[in-house]
Amino acid sequence: MDYKSLIRVIPDFPQEGISFKDITTLLKDGEAYRSAINDLAEFVRRFDIDLIAGPEARGFVVGAPLAYSLGVGFIPVRKAGKLPAETIQASYNLEYGKDALAMHKDAIKPGQKVLIADDLLATGGTIKTTIELVEKLGGIVVGATFLIELSYLKGREALKGYEVFSLVTY
Ligand code: IMP
Repeated sequence: MDYKSLIRVIPDFPQEGISFKDITTLLKDGEAYRSAINDLAEFVRRFDIDLIAGPEARGFVVGAPLAYSLGVGFIPVRKAGKLPAETIQASYNLEYGKDALAMHKDAIKPGQKVLIADDLLATGGTIKTTIELVEKLGGIVVGATFLIELSYLKGREALKGYEVFSLVTY
């Protein structure tokens, strides 16, 4: 499927110089959304994973249906201060801005195999921070999967040593 034709590109959002890839135009197309998740599932199926972790908010939109489709659990990775039980945290830089992510301390048992899912790979900062949290809890990160990869921001290099799969590359 030609996913690229369904992704809307908005120049200078949320600030000048950023070319924002808007997936809402793909998500509202039921056939395309299902097909995209099925394509990601096909890639992930070759690994024997226990869990999928997705950073808020668009990581939920990709990670949760993927976990459902594969019959594995889903771990929400949230902005600091949102999760109710005991958490671990790590801070990171975004393509635009800075933030901290958190995960429940009991989200992962040591040795569990985890795949990370998000809508888009830019510099890789978000995913590296998510990997840091998973590994701190003793999880084994097998790789990361995305709808979109901005290859010019070299996120794949930042994730060297991990399997990376994306449906669409810019
Ligand atoms: P990274 O941490 O630099 O790889 O940035 C990836 C994160 O920023 C993801 O969680 C994305 O949701 C968000 N992001 C960065 N650029 C875009 C974009 O062009 N469209 C949608 N989300 C973006």
